[in-house]
Amino acid sequence: MKKDHTQKKITNNTYHRNESELNRILIINTIMNNSQDTIYFKDRKSTFLLSSKAHAALFSIDNPSEVIGKSDFDYFPEYFAKDAYRDEQKIMATGEPIIGRVEKLIKPDGGVMWLSASKYPLYDAEGKIIGTWGTSRDITSLKNTEKELVQLNKQLEEANRQLRILSAVDNLSGLYNHRHFFEELNKTFDLYIRQKEKGNNNIFSVILFDIDNFKIINDTYGHLTGDLAIRHIGEIMKKNTPSTDNCFRYGGDEFAILLLDTDVEDARKIAEKIRMTIERTSISPQYSELKITVSVGVTSSCEAKSVNDLFQKSDEKLYYSKNTGKNMVT
Ligand code: GH3
Ligand code: MG
Repeated sequence: MKKDHTQKKITNNTYHRNESELNRILIINTIMNNSQDTIYFKDRKSTFLLSSKAHAALFSIDNPSEVIGKSDFDYFPEYFAKDAYRDEQKIMATGEPIIGRVEKLIKPDGGVMWLSASKYPLYDAEGKIIGTWGTSRDITSLKNTEKELVQLNKQLEEANRQLRILSAVDNLSGLYNHRHFFEELNKTFDLYIRQKEKGNNNIFSVILFDIDNFKIINDTYGHLTGDLAIRHIGEIMKKNTPSTDNCFRYGGDEFAILLLDTDVEDARKIAEKIRMTIERTSISPQYSELKITVSVGVTSSCEAKSVNDLFQKSDEKLYYSKNTGKNMVT
């Protein structure tokens, strides 16, 4: 008798089809019941067709079938549901998915939840768009960590800023130190050169001064009194200069002031006021008989070819003041 192979083939095919159907259902159920990411399917009116366990749990619902037939408007705040609806209309109109969009959800208890959401068009067997489907992941803890990192970065930047200031400030006088003075002098000179190239003839001036006979003051009154004098001079400089950021102690008893947009005549007036105030004020009531004086040199940027030239000219003027009787401005 001829064997009927057709029957066996049909049986085998049915068996394989059943097995794959079974697996498919198992796979879908596994995903819908166990995925930590929410999964949902919606029709063209954004009504839920299918909701995963995690998705229903988002609305504190244990049984996902309760969600079917409802929409985002039944569970989410209106602003959130409206945004989702608008997105879904767009996805259905264009066929373009939205991938990994970060959404902020204000929960009924006022808490904030962050979601990373992806939404896609839902096609039927004929390739017609019949709705949307999507997933979302709770990224609240990631977002909080990100926020903490931003906060930490801000604190680090502030600490660095403070450190930069500290490393540029002289402890004793509270003025900016030697290194910062030369950095600022170079920077300012370059800036004015660039401005000059653009046809702007603004000038800036430099005041340099040095305490007269400071060694004798130290020897007579002691080093701590000398320190007091340095602090006192720092205060006078700050009070008589347009910007305290431009007052420097660049040496032991050597001080400098940068005066932006100031010509040499105006700079000399400021220098003279500072010289006079130092001469006329005592460093403390205890030392009313102690007279401190300074010798000063003032130069403007238009007198110099380079930053070194500018510093040298100011220094020469300072020493001219020293050598012609001290306590004066040149
Ligand atoms: P001149 O009029 O020619 O400037 O005489 P001078 O005695 O002031 O001589 P010079 O400027 O060369 O001396 C600076 C002195 O400043 C020497 C040093 O003992 C003193 N000095 C430097 N730093 C400090 C400080 O931080 N505190 C005190 N008290 N003295 C200092
Ligand atoms: Mg001196």
